[in-house]
Amino acid sequence: MYLCIVLIEKNNNTSIIMLDKIQKLLEEVENMHASNLEELKNLRNKYLSKKGEINELMNDFRRIPTDQKREVGMKLNELKTKAQDIIDKMKNELDEKDNSEEELDLTRSSYPISLGTRHPISIVRNEIIEIFARLGFTIAEGPEVEDDWHVFSALNFPPDHPARDMQDTFFIESKPDIVLRTHTSSVQSRVMETSKPPIRIICPGRVYRNEAISARAHCFFHQVEALYIDKNVSFTDLKQVLLLFAKEMFGTDTKIRLRPSYFPFTEPSAEMDISCNICGGKGCAFCKHTGWVEILGCGMVDPNVLDLNGIDSKVYTGYALGMGIERITNLKYQVKDLRMFSENDTRFLKEFENAY
Ligand SMILES: [Zn+2]
Repeated sequence: MYLCIVLIEKNNNTSIIMLDKIQKLLEEVENMHASNLEELKNLRNKYLSKKGEINELMNDFRRIPTDQKREVGMKLNELKTKAQDIIDKMKNELDEKDNSEEELDLTRSSYPISLGTRHPISIVRNEIIEIFARLGFTIAEGPEVEDDWHVFSALNFPPDHPARDMQDTFFIESKPDIVLRTHTSSVQSRVMETSKPPIRIICPGRVYRNEAISARAHCFFHQVEALYIDKNVSFTDLKQVLLLFAKEMFGTDTKIRLRPSYFPFTEPSAEMDISCNICGGKGCAFCKHTGWVEILGCGMVDPNVLDLNGIDSKVYTGYALGMGIERITNLKYQVKDLRMFSENDTRFLKEFENAY
């Protein structure tokens, strides 16, 4: 009986001593302080390592009588969690301090900045502009959101003309007069209505068509158009400019050929092919074994267009030509899929790092 009492006493004492130790450590932990990572490491070793004080208490915990395990266990867990939380918090604070000090280090060398690349469409557009600038053409720009007059009517597309179907575009249902331009020719009509000949302009810009998006068609693309109006401008002038452009753009061996075509705003009209710059005109898969690839449309400005835009067609004549920049870019760089131009994939863009 006496032995029993002594044992109970002893067990009670064990848990009381342990609770005292936990309380003491709790107070210590709550008042911990580390002014650098080294001090923090020491604290972590002292309390949380395998041989740390809290783990030692865990070992002693086995000797606590079962009926008191719950109370002591809860206290012990509280101590461990608190020590862990406070040490983690101090670690974050020290890391942050470390970083902000790093930012203030003005002597550090900068991080390497990778330079962007010019978009292939921009490279080719600039090249086209540069060739025409040397021939005396100046750049003209206009709005992408246009009215029917400047996109169609002023360019000899009467309402219900079937040629409008070839340029199906986007418009506002409640205000069908407002459209996204289908060609940069709208800039030409804007320039014609406000200036007097001689006019020698080049109009680069984005245009829109209501097309299903695929590898070969997109709902937007880019054009460059040129317009020259003066007295005595003839088809010969047009042909010389086309030949010079083709040789500058694709190499001095390039040949051109003109095929009759139809556009509402030019008469006569032609499409221009260049000798395939891949096979040199011998015939390959790219030129469908013809030796020629189509690159642009052109013609003499229809007298109706001159008159519609306030220029006397009895005094002045002119030529116009227009090309898709994507088409020219494909010829130069063989980009197979049109969609790649607008996907913003930097791996694609990086390929043009040395292209200019
Ligand atoms: Zn070819």
